[in-house]
Amino acid sequence: MAILKIITEENETLRKKSKPVTEITPRIITLLDDMRDTLIDADGVGLAAVQTGILRRIFIINTSVEEGKDDIVEFINPEIVETEGHQEEVEGCLSVPGKYGVTSRPQKVKVKATDRNGNEFEFTGEGLYARCLCHEYEHLDGILYTDNAIKMLDPEDFE
Ligand SMILES: [Zn+2]
Repeated sequence: MAILKIITEENETLRKKSKPVTEITPRIITLLDDMRDTLIDADGVGLAAVQTGILRRIFIINTSVEEGKDDIVEFINPEIVETEGHQEEVEGCLSVPGKYGVTSRPQKVKVKATDRNGNEFEFTGEGLYARCLCHEYEHLDGILYTDNAIKMLDPEDFE
């Protein structure tokens, strides 16, 4: 278990497309464990492997961050299979520290993925978690939320 360094927007690795996981090796399990520690340490909602410099199609989200508990779901090779509704809310990113912006996202998002045991599962997120699923999914394709934000907030708006 280890806390990984989170790379930030000037690092061009964040702009690269992550590759699918073809086999869940002990290295992938270690990466997942380290990502959990890193996300909890950073007090974030979601973290993609690329944010730790690893170009694999993996992200994790903390699904009870609003309740102040840690309940982390791991997504390997995720695909967005269904979206519903619309929301415009404030978003941030551990790789873009100190900035926030308003994004346009679906209200509800269903994702299909593989878990660490190799089993396929579906997960539906609403509100904050729908935003997070879209945000993390975009990381896998080298996209940052700042690329498509409706507007970025002035620092005075949130200080
Ligand atoms: Zn992010």
